[in-house]
Amino acid sequence: MSDATDNTSPRVIAVANQKGGVGKTTTAINLAAAFAERGQNTLLLDLDPQGNASTGLGVLPESRDLSTYDVLMGEAPLERAMQMTGIPGLWLCPANSDLSSADMALYSNQNRTSMLRDALQQPLLGDSALDYIFIDCPPSLSLLTINALVAADTVLVPLQSEFFALEGLSQLMLTIREIRQTANPDLRIEGILLTMYDQRNNLSQQVESDARDNLGALVLNTMIPRNVRLSEAPSFAMPVLNYDTASRGAVAYRALARELLIKHQKLKPAETSQ
Ligand code: ADP
Ligand code: MG
Repeated sequence: MSDATDNTSPRVIAVANQKGGVGKTTTAINLAAAFAERGQNTLLLDLDPQGNASTGLGVLPESRDLSTYDVLMGEAPLERAMQMTGIPGLWLCPANSDLSSADMALYSNQNRTSMLRDALQQPLLGDSALDYIFIDCPPSLSLLTINALVAADTVLVPLQSEFFALEGLSQLMLTIREIRQTANPDLRIEGILLTMYDQRNNLSQQVESDARDNLGALVLNTMIPRNVRLSEAPSFAMPVLNYDTASRGAVAYRALARELLIKHQKLKPAETSQ
């Protein structure tokens, strides 16, 4: 969506992998929170009809009158649908079950793959200027995910450190390539993130070395360990950074934020020791 000469539009990062349970939502919530903690005004847009990111940030279904669905269908501006969370600098555009009918509703629309991009390109008024938008994608390569990839500057791919992890990746890579050839030539890969990594487990190590051998520099240095605090935090309606700030999960997502913000030249390596 943005380009290098345009400082005003937020950088849009889609968190995508058509496999379920690989850590997309956990990454979207905690990385968005870690970016906000670093002073970046950040929006998490929940694009999964299950609404796990919305629940995980404590937004109850009754407080989702305006949702991603309305934004996607051009029925409400993003500015009205997004809401503040309890975390300074972090906003949420919530999802509700309306989104499960979006695929059908989009299908008959001529602009069915670019609806989200158009919605995100509307300028935000007031003081809600955003630095980053994270999109939490559903576990499919449906029109919803396609909309996210068309709207995004980059795609961040969580990869669960387990057997068959790399198998599903080729389909996603193919989809990314097709979108580059058509609707979004500038789409880049933010990185491949190894999640639920267990360093005592040979299988995790094997998946890591396979991924680094095959995908090279696309694989991010930071890996997210398997950490029970990460799975507990959503039921307390907060990111792990707030739920257990010194947990290994929190430390890892802060390290990931640092790695990406340095890459985006928003942080200097010298600032990273805190
Ligand atoms: P997705 O959005 O890809 O479906 P989730 O982020 O919802 O995946 O994660 C699937 C499940 O695994 C959730 O119960 C989540 O709490 C748990 N989980 C995710 N990442 C970790 C981790 N690093 N350590 C432990 N549990 C995790
Ligand atoms: Mg999810």
